[in-house]
Amino acid sequence: MKNLRNALLLKQLYQLKQLGYNYTNITIYKEEELNLSLPNTLDALKKQAQNCHLCELSKSRHKVVCGEGDPHADLLFIGEAPGATEDSSGKPFVGRSGELLTKMIENVLHVSRSDVYITNIVKCRPPNNQVPTASQAHTCQPYLLKQIELIKPKLIVTLGATAYHFLTGDETEISKVRGTIHKQNGYTLIPTYHPSYLLRNPSAKKEVFEDLLKVKDLM
Ligand code: URA
Repeated sequence: MKNLRNALLLKQLYQLKQLGYNYTNITIYKEEELNLSLPNTLDALKKQAQNCHLCELSKSRHKVVCGEGDPHADLLFIGEAPGATEDSSGKPFVGRSGELLTKMIENVLHVSRSDVYITNIVKCRPPNNQVPTASQAHTCQPYLLKQIELIKPKLIVTLGATAYHFLTGDETEISKVRGTIHKQNGYTLIPTYHPSYLLRNPSAKKEVFEDLLKVKDLM
């Protein structure tokens, strides 16, 4: 919540700057005045995220891509950030890497895409598909943590290095940790490669297939 509080304070300071203030006494902001609680339903959370301007990604995004799927899914996939197709549709993983992810879910796990939940570390597209910065990821983190709290997945599959790193704090290379099983905060986490990496390196599909068989065994 510290990140959210700081981001809200920063937003208020920017607003004052736009009004012409050069200096303000930060103690004028009483913490109780800041609404730090996020809503307790996924729909309300989505609505709140759609009005989010806590980081600079809000300036260039077209749509906030909060996530989609079964709100009570046992299995949650977490990617990095929306790309161009997701930014214009408002849905996660609907471009080329999304098509591959859908195939992986349906052909290897034998469940429908609508039976799982899919989201990202950051909910707005970084310009030029850059990797989200630590500051952007931390500012957006309360939304992701609230999604996890509300969905209560038993299993989380992180797609790519960014999602694994920001969810676990572990900076080990993805090639070394993929397919390993981590227990944290009441769920089991399995990292694997990002589908867009597979589009560039199709030979790694074999490893993702193995990782997903582990996920299937745990399901
Ligand atoms: N890549 C991601 O990490 N997430 C998306 O939603 C689309 C592409």
